Amino acid sequence: MMNILYKSTRGDGSKITASQAILKGLSDDGGLFVPDSLPKLHISLEKLAEMDYREVAFEVMRLFLTDFTDQELKYCIDNAYDSKFDTEEIAPVRKIGDAYIMELFHGSTIAFKDMALSILPYLMTVAARKNNITNDIVILTATSGDTGKAALAGFADVPGTKIIVFYPKGGVSRIQELQMVTQKGANTFVVGVKGNFDDCQSAVKKMFNDPSLKELLNGKKCQFSSANSINIGRLVPQIAYYVWAYSRLVKNGEIKAGDKVNFVVPTGNFGNILAGFYASLMGLPVNRFICASNENKVLYDFFKTGVYDKNREFILTSSPSMDILISSNLERLIYMISGNSEEQNKAFMKSLSENGRYEIPEESRAQLSAFYGGFASEEENAEGIKETYEQTGYITDTHTGVANAVYKKYVSETGDRTPAVIVSTASPYKFSRAVMTAIDPELDSLDDFALIDELNRKSNVDIPKAVKDIIDADIRHDTVCEIGEMEQKVKGFLGINE
Ligand SMILES: *Cc1c(COP(=O)(O)O)cnc(C)c1O
Repeated sequence: MMNILYKSTRGDGSKITASQAILKGLSDDGGLFVPDSLPKLHISLEKLAEMDYREVAFEVMRLFLTDFTDQELKYCIDNAYDSKFDTEEIAPVRKIGDAYIMELFHGSTIAFKDMALSILPYLMTVAARKNNITNDIVILTATSGDTGKAALAGFADVPGTKIIVFYPKGGVSRIQELQMVTQKGANTFVVGVKGNFDDCQSAVKKMFNDPSLKELLNGKKCQFSSANSINIGRLVPQIAYYVWAYSRLVKNGEIKAGDKVNFVVPTGNFGNILAGFYASLMGLPVNRFICASNENKVLYDFFKTGVYDKNREFILTSSPSMDILISSNLERLIYMISGNSEEQNKAFMKSLSENGRYEIPEESRAQLSAFYGGFASEEENAEGIKETYEQTGYITDTHTGVANAVYKKYVSETGDRTPAVIVSTASPYKFSRAVMTAIDPELDSLDDFALIDELNRKSNVDIPKAVKDIIDADIRHDTVCEIGEMEQKVKGFLGINE
């Protein structure tokens, strides 16, 4: 098996192991870690079709995390993908209408972030042991809603770790906020910020890169790591479910091994879809990745024009986990289509931070043919949710709704009938108000919990444990701060006084 090392998209070409990259999260130079080459799937698609989720995840992840022993990796996988998930299949693939839906929301927080965040704490503690780290790992995270809760659930009370989550106050759904502020665990700290997600993300990135803060933490026997989607410890587990989805279609006789499929991915930070792209570069037969944006359609414009431009109004939509103007993981793709040039990538990222935009050259654009960018307006999303419900009885959440609506537009524009897997990223229960009012606007008069009952009645899908749990849980976190006060809050929680 090929040994894979990781280097920064803004670095000097020096390389570190997978476990070191997982511990660091973000490179010191501000770049993202990328594998120095992409391994090939070494096992036939027919064989994969006979495996269960854990076995597929193992076969995919071992190719990337080459300094983990088989035993270590199996330990991580077995502890992550267990009865926390409410189905043995972990990520069921169903036929709904004329497409397949891969449900990535059966974990403890009912959104796709669980797919990676239920394994990250295990990858990280194993990585710490491998590298003789004795400091506590402090997870510092900005969230647009779902990462925060999934990371809190994953890290709560894990020995040797602490976790601090910042979320945009007023920028997440009521259910999302309740899930976070009721989080148990003495090592957890949740803060609402008076700003949007990008403000939170930028401040977190700045803290990561601040050498004096690093010194202060070290004095407290602590060090930062990131559970954000930039960590390769999140990216790698996500590659697995693309291979899994494909193998299910083979298993169920929907396609023959080798046939191409399309994936439709509701996108924000570009982490989920990038994992799929990596799977295709490993040899998974994919025709197109349909990148679905909401009204914050930076990525749609980028794929259409080659210009990435975040200078625009930030729109709060009913798919808040995709309300993002800086798609961090796109940097990995930009680096790749710039011929793996750190210099060129750095120039684009400098331009992004100074001018809010960059434009890639024609020869780089030519390498984006695997992607199709689309977007759905709030109206198109709501109409699509209603229509899918009326035609099939199936109710999607608002993020998956964006993907569905974009897929419809894609088919009518291109006529492409390649079998398509729509990646479903959240349970409708997580966004019950938006979902139910899309189906019937009159339901807006109901309170959040009555809406949940109504969703249960209409969908015939059991109310998930994650939702039942918050109904009478105590609020444990009520800190709110300005953007400029975030660092102070971190120091306070860690007991750092200057
Ligand atoms: C995070 C999230 C997304 C966006 O995923 P990215 O990897 O950031 O592109 C989409 N839907 C839901 C429900 C999410 O939580």
